[in-house]
Amino acid sequence: MRTGQINVQTENIFPIIKKFLYSDHEIFLRELVSNAVDASQKLKFLSSNGEFKGELGELKVEVLLDKEAKTLTIRDRGIGMTDAEIDKYINQIAFSGAEEFVQQYKGKEGAEQIIGHFGLGFYSAFMVAEKVQIRTLSRTEGAKAVQWESNGSPEYTITEIEKEDRGTDIVLFINEESVEFLEKVRIQEILDKYCKFLPIPVFFETKTEYIDDPNGERDENDKVKRVAIEVPNQINNVSPAWTKAPIDLKEDDYSAFYRELYPMTMESPLFHIHLNVDYPFNLTGILYFPRIQENVEVQRNKINLYSNQVFITDSVEEIVPEFLTLLHGVIDSPDIPLNVSRSYLQSDGNVKKISSHITKKVVDKLAEMFKKDRADYESKWEDLKIFVQYGMLSDEKFAEKAKSIALVKNTDGKYYTLEEFKEQVATLQTDKNDKVVMLYSNNPEEQFGFVKKAKDRGYEVLDMDGPLVPHWIAKLEQVFENISFARVDADTLDKLIQKDEEIPSKLSKEDEDQLKPLFEEVVDKEKFTVQFESMNSDDAPIIITQPEFIRRMMEQQKMGGGFYGAFPEMHNLTINANHEKISEILNTKTPKSRERKVKQLTDIALLSQGMLKGEALNEFIERSINLV
Ligand code: ADP
Repeated sequence: MRTGQINVQTENIFPIIKKFLYSDHEIFLRELVSNAVDASQKLKFLSSNGEFKGELGELKVEVLLDKEAKTLTIRDRGIGMTDAEIDKYINQIAFSGAEEFVQQYKGKEGAEQIIGHFGLGFYSAFMVAEKVQIRTLSRTEGAKAVQWESNGSPEYTITEIEKEDRGTDIVLFINEESVEFLEKVRIQEILDKYCKFLPIPVFFETKTEYIDDPNGERDENDKVKRVAIEVPNQINNVSPAWTKAPIDLKEDDYSAFYRELYPMTMESPLFHIHLNVDYPFNLTGILYFPRIQENVEVQRNKINLYSNQVFITDSVEEIVPEFLTLLHGVIDSPDIPLNVSRSYLQSDGNVKKISSHITKKVVDKLAEMFKKDRADYESKWEDLKIFVQYGMLSDEKFAEKAKSIALVKNTDGKYYTLEEFKEQVATLQTDKNDKVVMLYSNNPEEQFGFVKKAKDRGYEVLDMDGPLVPHWIAKLEQVFENISFARVDADTLDKLIQKDEEIPSKLSKEDEDQLKPLFEEVVDKEKFTVQFESMNSDDAPIIITQPEFIRRMMEQQKMGGGFYGAFPEMHNLTINANHEKISEILNTKTPKSRERKVKQLTDIALLSQGMLKGEALNEFIERSINLV
């Protein structure tokens, strides 16, 4: 036996480790199991290149809980360590850099993810243990088994021990404050979280399985009896789908993997993208498209980040563009640096490349689906649209690429790309400024009258609704040349799509001056602007509209995106100068009867916009009855 001092600069780094990692003690288990997995993989490697000539046997990692002895043991059959290797790898660790780092990031968010990447992994055991033993037998022929022991002071002892099996046991004597780690369910939970896809089998406790009775006993129906047996409980799937080549996977494998990732989720995803890059950075993974529908507030944090199959985190905002956090799935990259702060991560070159690579992959996949099976793509569009719209709004590059595969739907349910729709309507709907006016309705039922009028003229109207539409429309006007959007009820048709030819007005200037005050009398002058327009005589006598600009501002404000302060409600009350009822009002001499007609026509216009309510509606009804 010998004793020594762990080579650290400060008198004691352990209190720092404990404090520093306070919020996330459970990490110790990830670190120790990962070390055990590493040790096993190293042996596999040495065996495959002929450096290790012994029997590999079954390489596995076991986590053993002994509640009575208050110990938790992580056991592997990996390379093990000789006395000299313990000295080199455990006692002489390059603490100096780590120490500085720990001081700097003490208590900062995300710091707990870093520990393993500074060679502190093993020492995280001291967060939960008052004493730690390493009992190990090296793979080398004739090696003697040794035990290293320390209670967290920089002192350790090394003794020779009896150990038959190659590999390492890390024995933690769990401290008073950490008794939670002596609970089976707690350990199971941690292993499920971090170790579910490690590449070497990890076992913890046992589970019950039912098999055919080995003695062949039969039940009353002469069937072989089923009996319960306890079998080792394997935590992990050692070769998760993302580690395989896409050509080796079928559609079913992808759905099965989705269920493996999210056992609680009933919905199946729309489709998936398999990421597989090895240059200029290493990245594998599978991303799934969830059904988003109208609900933008879908669950985020459903992308899990792994590094060589070790779970790192489920907050990936820095690694994938914000709009892609709507996706689900797994990204695995050993190239994502974890030993830096989060803000630094955003400016990291590799991370940026990864982020734009993923964005590109996503658009490529959409484009491929669009090309391959247009009908299928259209059938998925309602689920995709929020995502595409959101992506176009938040990422210029994505917008540029996605604009040719973004769809719009007309009020008859027919889908077009924007380019197609533009072409389709260009002949009739180009205004005098050469802009193609894309008419849309966000509610064809409520705006029925407006939609019908437009269609009667041979115009087409898009059915566009959804929380992002107001913003998206503005974006489309930017990325496409010479188009503008107008909601069908934003103005009269002649104003929405202004042509060169003008319909002559039946009203003189004097007529208008006489009529205007009559209408201003019956509506709130603050909210309504009374104006005249010479429309067709079969258009409505009065049309109430809300200017496109005003409405967009109000909508954007509602979504918290406006920059213009509070916007007053404003409408246009447009009088059709050519309608016979308007001439009739002019010719009505009794003020009472004239007022009644003005009121009646105005109310009808309000009614058709769903704006006639309460007392005004009641008055209208009574007045209408009297008119019969
Ligand atoms: P890191 O794993 O980041 O190198 P650790 O502090 O976790 O840092 O481990 C230090 C070293 O100790 C490892 O690099 C490895 O050489 C050795 N080691 C740790 N655990 C084991 C184990 N179970 N079997 C063999 N060697 C181990």
